[in-house]
Amino acid sequence: MKILVINAGSSSLKYQLLDPATHELMAKGLCERIGIGGHIKHTPEGKEAYAADIDMPTHSEAIQAVLSLLVDPAHGVIKTVSEIDAVGHRVVHGGEEFASSVLIDDQVMDTLKACIPLAPLHNPANITGINACKAAMPGVPHVAVFDTAFHQTLPPKAFIFALPYEYYEKDKVRRYGFHGTSHRYVSQRAASLMGRPIEELKLVTCHLGNGASTCAIKYGKSIDTSMGFTPLDGLPMGTRSGAVDSGILQYLMDLKHLDIHQMLDILNKKSGVLGISGISSDFRDLDQAAAAGSERAQLAIDVFTYKVTKRIGSSAAAMGGLDGVIFTAGVGENSPELRAKILEGLEFLGLKLDPAKNNIRGKEAVISTDDSPNTIMVIPTNEELVIAMDTAKIVSQLKK
Ligand code: ADP
Repeated sequence: MKILVINAGSSSLKYQLLDPATHELMAKGLCERIGIGGHIKHTPEGKEAYAADIDMPTHSEAIQAVLSLLVDPAHGVIKTVSEIDAVGHRVVHGGEEFASSVLIDDQVMDTLKACIPLAPLHNPANITGINACKAAMPGVPHVAVFDTAFHQTLPPKAFIFALPYEYYEKDKVRRYGFHGTSHRYVSQRAASLMGRPIEELKLVTCHLGNGASTCAIKYGKSIDTSMGFTPLDGLPMGTRSGAVDSGILQYLMDLKHLDIHQMLDILNKKSGVLGISGISSDFRDLDQAAAAGSERAQLAIDVFTYKVTKRIGSSAAAMGGLDGVIFTAGVGENSPELRAKILEGLEFLGLKLDPAKNNIRGKEAVISTDDSPNTIMVIPTNEELVIAMDTAKIVSQLKK
């Protein structure tokens, strides 16, 4: 089966064509500058990468460019578009409506539109991407896979904010959590690497990239997670503040004469490790700067790793125990130094890091010592593969 996976942003469209059964990636690429020009980077497996400026006033032209390249004699990997069995779409917010992936029909589209106020930056772009793909490939099933769905198993005590209850009941204000596809994938890989059923494991997954979140996964279900109503909550990130005392907002807005949009812009784009260090949102830059003596780069690293350490502890407390910790995404997969720093002092939770085994980047590995009571692992995330696998599963049920 060949599944096209689409991740549409407001001016971008990422894609992968892959076979979920064999995990074979056939091609991947990115359309950028949609609406303000148009550029495509296309990387077919076994052939040279290709890039070109192509006029893309809307996502429709972008998906047309993708389909043309996929069947192109020089740069393509399939003969005709009809070889694509289904399309899987990443959708950021499914609200409380979707606890798993779904086949997209008119009713699902209406529900996605109803979720727009919950994710005003992301869901409109996802919907535009779905509409463009449905128009370009009308006879093909389309499936939506949600960032929020995996966290729909959170119990009320974990998802209710201590605000007047009507804000939940009437206005849907609650913890939703994000990165669900990634947390689900790495926890399932972890269980299979450990050779134990996920139904008996208590795992903490740490998705540490530009965006960062942790998840407490008890017996295969998300029971708590660090991101909240929006992806701004929880850990400090590249440019996002993570959770801050909300009293700070009014103080700064009064002092600096900021409106709420300017304040949120600061919290989303100028904070996190960039804000603390004043140097960069990229941990590689921070490592270098800290090694060269920058105290603020070091402080940014210290604040970030301290918060992740605390989340591992609080997640273990929420689950009443711990069997394993998993690191994934850019930082989690590639930085032995940050992993070591996060795990410092956590031996009391049965987490003994093996420095030699920890010295790996970007591949699946157990990095705890042989006598560590609990397992520490690195598992590269693969959200596109999960989207393709969910899509294939839903489509094969249709055929029965
Ligand atoms: P996104 O959330 O955008 O998908 P990624 O998961 O790709 O982000 O993570 C990107 C981040 O990973 C970069 O900003 C960088 O800080 C970090 N990163 C990548 N490689 C390394 C490395 N070798 N050492 C430390 N950090 C790294």
